[in-house]
Amino acid sequence: MSLQNAYLKEVYEKVCKRNQGEPEFLQAVQEVLESLEPVVEKRPDIVAEGVIDRIVEPERVITFRVSWVDDQGKVQVNRGFRVQFNSAIGPYKGGLRLHPSVNASVIKFLGFEQIFKNSLTGLPMGGGKGGSDFDPKGKSDREIMRFCQSFMTELCKHIGPDTDVPAGDIGVGAREIGYLFGQYKRLRNEFTGVLTGKGLTYGGSLTRTEATGFGLCYFVNEMLAAKGTSFAGKTVAISGSGNVALYAAQKATELGGKVVTLSDSNGFIYDPNGIDLAVAKDIKEVKRGRIKEYADRVPGSVYTEGKRVWGTKCDIALPCATQNELDLDDANALIANGVQFVAEGANMPSTPEAVEAFQKAGVFFGPAKAANAGGVAVSGLEMSQNSIRLSWTFEEVDEKLHGIMKNIYKNAYDASVAYGCPGNLVAGANIAGFLKVAEAMIAQGVAY
Ligand code: NDP
Repeated sequence: MSLQNAYLKEVYEKVCKRNQGEPEFLQAVQEVLESLEPVVEKRPDIVAEGVIDRIVEPERVITFRVSWVDDQGKVQVNRGFRVQFNSAIGPYKGGLRLHPSVNASVIKFLGFEQIFKNSLTGLPMGGGKGGSDFDPKGKSDREIMRFCQSFMTELCKHIGPDTDVPAGDIGVGAREIGYLFGQYKRLRNEFTGVLTGKGLTYGGSLTRTEATGFGLCYFVNEMLAAKGTSFAGKTVAISGSGNVALYAAQKATELGGKVVTLSDSNGFIYDPNGIDLAVAKDIKEVKRGRIKEYADRVPGSVYTEGKRVWGTKCDIALPCATQNELDLDDANALIANGVQFVAEGANMPSTPEAVEAFQKAGVFFGPAKAANAGGVAVSGLEMSQNSIRLSWTFEEVDEKLHGIMKNIYKNAYDASVAYGCPGNLVAGANIAGFLKVAEAMIAQGVAY
């Protein structure tokens, strides 16, 4: 699909000119603008107020040097980023990613997506994202600590509980958040909810670890129910083996599905008997090992090097690793194998051609912005608990998460109906997320 509306075309051309060499960011903007075609037709006030021209430009982009000393005493230099994209409905909120592939394009695409995702949760959070091209793989605990401290030494000047509240993402889990929080506190002499994903002993929320994966399955549950079915007896293929993948696998299994795959950037495992989660968690969360070790430990499972999981026969596919990990060939392989539901745990894991192929084939498709919003939703709940200095139980947070995911599904579905594309959750999620932010931007005016 390509843009038809002349005004949106013009906006997109400007974005392309201004952000050359940033393919991921342009991909994310194009998808949202395509969804907004019917909104632009119905709402001339949004065009008149320049909302779309403004929303595609980050409010602030911070790039900084992160120098640190490795275990051999050698000085290392990485590049740090924080993109504060939009604060119309609340303080900037979004994760920090540590991965060698991180660059301005990746962080801007993630920050842009975050605006709409955060809006969909119904909680008061703006959109932001950050990270560094630092590679945590193979680094010692001390090296991770020194990197995180150096990163926060600069970042702390730009964030705060009412300004910008970062969280985890790829390569940033409880250990890294702990080091980052410790350094913020040392530098600012403030114990505040400036980060989410904190440990339970210092202000973290129960259910945050599980939130994105659980939320994804609650969302898929709504998709299944809409088609009169459920997880029971369904075969589920999941990619990745990090935070999102592991807890998606847990909830899908609890709801009656059989999860048969997990992967990492080296290859994937297939277990026809259903993934043994205790083994997978031990390898990834405790030993920080590689997924191929699973096949050495669980009889009957198979490891395939250098391949993705998408050749596996399944009813439900949940990409939970990284952006553009599922392309047109993968989509065609899944469709040929009879997949009926696809929902994105990772951010933008399916290429635009793959999404189009799913939609044409009648596969019910749940986009990342809606389907993986459970993580940031519970981050929002962590902020609430920090503000009132109280902690809710696991069950209380889980119940709130479940309610939020149901609402996101309903709002995305309703928007798809209201704007003439019933069941197209890509368009519905973009439109529903956008409209709330647009109203706030109009209300707050333009600085003359
Ligand atoms: P983790 O770091 O815990 O796990 C990432 C997983 O994806 C690992 O298995 C990793 O394998 C794999 N992976 C990462 N990069 C690549 C790559 N380039 N090619 C193939 N595999 C890769 O991250 P999360 O589980 O937290 O995040 C996964 C996805 O979910 C990301 O897109 C993230 O933005 C998104 N997300 C995460 C949320 C959260 O709460 N954590 C919230 C919402 C979205 P390897 O070890 O080999 O690198």
